[in-house]
Amino acid sequence: MVVVKAERVRRLPPYLFAEIDRLKADLIARGVDVINLGVGDPDLATPPHIIEKLAQSAQDRANHQYPSYSGMNDFRVSVAKWYGRRFGVDLDPMSETLTLIGSKEGLAHLPLAVINPGDLALVPSPAYPVYEIATMFAGGETFTMPLLKENGFLPDLEAIAPETARRAKLMFINYPNNPTGATADRDFYERVVRFAQKYDILVCHDAAYSEMSFDGYRPMSFLEVPGARDVGVEFHSLSKTYNMTGWRLGFAVGNRDAIAALGQIKSNIDSGVFNAVQWAGIAALDGDQAPVESMRKIYTQRRDILIAGLNKAGLHPAVPKATFYIWCPTPPGYTSKDFTSLLLSQTGIVTTPGSGFGEPGEGYVRMALTVSAERIKEAVERICGLDLKRPPQS
Ligand SMILES: *Cc1c(COP(=O)(O)O)cnc(C)c1O
Repeated sequence: MVVVKAERVRRLPPYLFAEIDRLKADLIARGVDVINLGVGDPDLATPPHIIEKLAQSAQDRANHQYPSYSGMNDFRVSVAKWYGRRFGVDLDPMSETLTLIGSKEGLAHLPLAVINPGDLALVPSPAYPVYEIATMFAGGETFTMPLLKENGFLPDLEAIAPETARRAKLMFINYPNNPTGATADRDFYERVVRFAQKYDILVCHDAAYSEMSFDGYRPMSFLEVPGARDVGVEFHSLSKTYNMTGWRLGFAVGNRDAIAALGQIKSNIDSGVFNAVQWAGIAALDGDQAPVESMRKIYTQRRDILIAGLNKAGLHPAVPKATFYIWCPTPPGYTSKDFTSLLLSQTGIVTTPGSGFGEPGEGYVRMALTVSAERIKEAVERICGLDLKRPPQS
């Protein structure tokens, strides 16, 4: 038989990394020494004490059966304690926290919990693609909030018409931001809370990069703002903080009705996270945070090398205070895709076109600091060897 794909599958945009993956594979096959700055996946190892806790917990047969749907109580208690220590936010582990199979899983399921067909979600652009696609899967419509340089890559809430705001049920925000590297301050979060209160909108703050920050800057939690817990949920991940992308462990915290609704969706779809992984997560959150500090130092060094090199090449990106992304403007006359193609074909460097994260990302490419300082130096030499005054060939 011919399987006719559902409309929600047919409407999916072409996978952002598919074309780049194909070109990259071609180059590698031709023997090119490829430097991959394309993926947001840490190249550093998970700290040993976390791996040991997993190994030990995997031996314990008490962990071999189905885990609890909403997560192990001990893990949720650890999450609440971490929130208290890190942000001074007091959470009730049982009603205000939820274990996730990585934060992507929770972000993707949240619209199913709160969006009815035809409902509106306010979604930033450029952005992590999950927000828009998950809204579409739930039958919702998306209103795009462009993230522009002149606004510090924050959404302009004043630019959202009251009729639009009144229709909206959900708003996604993400700081420190992927892909722009931008950060948000208390004033922004206060404005978001007032806006959400006025129009009855649930705010979903994706804080995956809250611990990946530099130069002494420590991002705040959205939930630190008075009233935020009443209108919002915050999503965290152990993926970037502890180099655990493969482990699939994250959590959602905040508004208890939203947490309960997301938990109801999840208990009908998945059966939770392997308890041994949650014990390892407890070791990560409760344990020595020195590995997190050394991770920050490593990315700071890489960032500084790449920024200096790009400045030398005449590109002048902003210096991010957080995330492992450089949001680099393209040379005059080059679109995002022109520049990504040039870098790939002339230097073997893989980057991601800004336009792939949404149309307002045009004019930028995203470079991830996920290779060693040595390889970044090599990338810089190659970029500085390009003649960027020549118009694109495409
Ligand atoms: C990496 C990332 C996540 C984390 O995903 P996990 O599923 O927890 O691995 C979430 N949001 C953004 C914006 C990210 O870049």
